[in-house]
Amino acid sequence: MRNIVILTGAGVSAESGIRTFRAADGLWEDHRVEDVATPEAFDRDPALVHRFYDARRARLAEVEPNAAHEALARLDAEWAGDLLIVTQNVDDLHERAGARRLLHMHGELNSGWCLACDSRRAWSGPMGEGAACGACGLAGRVRPDIVWFGEMPYAMDRIDSAIANADLFVSIGTSGAVYPAAGFVQTARYRGARTLEINLEPSQGSLFFHERRYGPASVEVPAWVEAVLAYSDQSSPMSS
Ligand SMILES: [Zn+2]
Repeated sequence: MRNIVILTGAGVSAESGIRTFRAADGLWEDHRVEDVATPEAFDRDPALVHRFYDARRARLAEVEPNAAHEALARLDAEWAGDLLIVTQNVDDLHERAGARRLLHMHGELNSGWCLACDSRRAWSGPMGEGAACGACGLAGRVRPDIVWFGEMPYAMDRIDSAIANADLFVSIGTSGAVYPAAGFVQTARYRGARTLEINLEPSQGSLFFHERRYGPASVEVPAWVEAVLAYSDQSSPMSS
């Protein structure tokens, strides 16, 4: 086992106090996703959409990475083989814990995307309707750099090739309900990877996984990382 791909979702950030979209009732922080997380919503009422993401961005200053983020950052630092953390989360808790090999497939709260010049730049503080782009200088054309419903997730080519080469695919804290991420496990299995689900409860796709661990991410993820690093120590050429 050398190449690991880890998919993370809302369940990893939930214990840090971040509430995200719940498929069960279609609400995200009491807003219907149709009102805040679609390109049509932004066309219709940009002020509302900006207020929503400005509040989510401000919330980041009040939360901290939890033991699951920290364990994954440790695995990233210590794992000698290829590793890629693909997160569906738009918060910055993985990177604040120290993860480096990380990809935000659904965008980031701390990024702005200018529709005038197509540049994406780090963003802190409110964005608002009149925000000026740091690249082209135009005001009023910057939107949250978030992949909304109906839009294509980022870096799918890179994700596909990482999964195709993975020896182990791990899904952590995802509902298994949102595609294309929900289909990664089947691709990984088809390409010969072992697959592991870590979640609070069985996800919609739980039967696709070879192995399953159920419980809080802050408990299950550190335990799994400990086991993986211990196993790799035993099986390294140095000790055989
Ligand atoms: Zn611009």
